[in-house]
Amino acid sequence: MAPPCPQCSQQGQLVRKLTVRSLLIPKLKNRVLDIAYYLCMSSDCKVSYYSNTPNEIFTTKDVKVPIWYKKDAHPKYACYCNKITDEEVINTVKETGLSDMQEIIKFLREKVKCACVAMNPSGQCCTPLFPEAITIGLHARQKEKTENI
Ligand SMILES: [Zn+2]
Repeated sequence: MAPPCPQCSQQGQLVRKLTVRSLLIPKLKNRVLDIAYYLCMSSDCKVSYYSNTPNEIFTTKDVKVPIWYKKDAHPKYACYCNKITDEEVINTVKETGLSDMQEIIKFLREKVKCACVAMNPSGQCCTPLFPEAITIGLHARQKEKTENI
């Protein structure tokens, strides 16, 4: 189990060092040690990555991209690899009716990339925002249809 975040005491999520190293702003990259790093999952907390070693803490300002679930994240990315925001997903679903993640990505981007380990703060593929945005988009589309009848 991941240790709690030293700032907010919530349990974080283990991330790969490669992810931490590639997402920190360039001047901090060399500060990444050969220890385990965790991602703080709390939306209110300013901590991004932390470790069991005191003082080895990074804030959201130390990370190159906004972390989607943090309160002040802007824009909110549903897919970091292809820089697709939740808003783009909602609009696409609303306009096209597509509901498959891969199809939506292909629709929005000519060249589809997958580099989650290096581009997504959690190191995992796409964010939970993606399915949420699809649901919101489908609802909006449904609503529009009903209103047009
Ligand atoms: Zn925290």
